[in-house]
Amino acid sequence: MHAAGLAHSDLSYKNVLVDPCTGSACLIDIDGLVVPGKYPPDVVGTPDFIAPEVMATLKLPLTDPNRKLPRRETDQHAMAVLTYMYLLYRHPLRGGKVHDLNDPQRDDELMMGERALFIEHPADRSNRANLRDIKPSFLPFADAAKLPYTLTGPYLSRLFERAFIEGLHAPDRRPTADEWEQGLIRTVDLVQPCSNSNCDQKWFVFDNTTRPACPFCGTAFHGTLPVLNLYSSDGKGNFRADGHRLMVYTNQYLYPWHTSRRVVPNERLTAEQRKPVAYFVFHQGKWLLINQTLTNLKDIGARKSIPPGSSLELVDGQQILLSPEEGGRLVHVQMVRA
Ligand SMILES: [Zn+2]
Repeated sequence: MHAAGLAHSDLSYKNVLVDPCTGSACLIDIDGLVVPGKYPPDVVGTPDFIAPEVMATLKLPLTDPNRKLPRRETDQHAMAVLTYMYLLYRHPLRGGKVHDLNDPQRDDELMMGERALFIEHPADRSNRANLRDIKPSFLPFADAAKLPYTLTGPYLSRLFERAFIEGLHAPDRRPTADEWEQGLIRTVDLVQPCSNSNCDQKWFVFDNTTRPACPFCGTAFHGTLPVLNLYSSDGKGNFRADGHRLMVYTNQYLYPWHTSRRVVPNERLTAEQRKPVAYFVFHQGKWLLINQTLTNLKDIGARKSIPPGSSLELVDGQQILLSPEEGGRLVHVQMVRA
C-alpha cells in the first residue's frame, strides 16, 4: 500500500484481524484509503493511534496550510504504536505525566499531540508510568522499568527508538512498513525457549549477548547454544553478511527463506516455500542439523555433501552452504557457551 504511494489513514487494533491458529493477518476498513490527487484524507484515525502532528493541528481549519492530515508518515506512527502494543501490552505515550490538571480532554490532546513523549525516553523520564495508578491486572507489562522495550531484541528496539524518540515529532525519520517487516522477520529467528518450565512467557528474544537470560523469569541459559549467522551469495563466489542470525533450539526448523535471500516470508509464499527444509535437534550432547530436502547442502571446511535424510553435527566456526544459487545462503556457525 505504502509502496504504491497510498495511506490507510486509520490503522489501529480494530482494523487488523489476526488468526492466532494460522498466524495470518489482514487489514480491514480500507474506505479511508488516501490516494494522493484522487481521494484526500477523510478521517483522522482512531484515538491512541493518531500521529502527534495530526493531533496537535486537529482544531485548525482544513484549509490552513499548517493543518496536518493522514498520510504515509502518520500510518508509520500508527504502525509503530500498534507493534509496541501487540508486543508489550501498553501504550508507548500514555505515561504518568500530567499536562492539564483541570481539563482531562485537553490533557489527552497534549499527551498524544504536541507534548507527546515516549514513556521509556532514556533522557527525559518525566512520562514514566506511575505504578501506584496501575491496576495489578496490567502488570507485569505496565512496568516498563522491569520489562523495557529492549526485550524485543536489537532490531525492533532500534525501530522503536526511531519511531518514538527520533521520529515522534519528525515524521520523515519514522521507520517504514518494510523496515518493520524486516525487523519482525529477523526477530522471530532470535526467539529462544526459556529453560524454566514454570516461566509465564515460555519464550524470549535473544539479545545478541553471550549471556542469554529470560527477561521474564530471570532464568539464565546454561549449556551450548548454536547461533547461525547468515551470509548470501552474489552469484560470483562472494558472500556478504545479511545481518540476520538464526538461534537454534530443539525442533527449530530451517525454511526456504533461510536458504535464499530471494525468498521472503510473506503472503506471497507458495505452498512449497512454506515447507521446512531441515531441522535441528540436541542429541547425545551434540547439536545436529537434519537435512530433509536440501539437495546441495555442504559442509565447506570438511568438503562434504550432506544429502537429504542425513545429519551434520554443528561445531564452532563451521561454514555450511545451504544453496549454491545467486542469493543462496552460507551459514557461519557460532557456538555460544553459557
Ligand atoms: Zn523465563
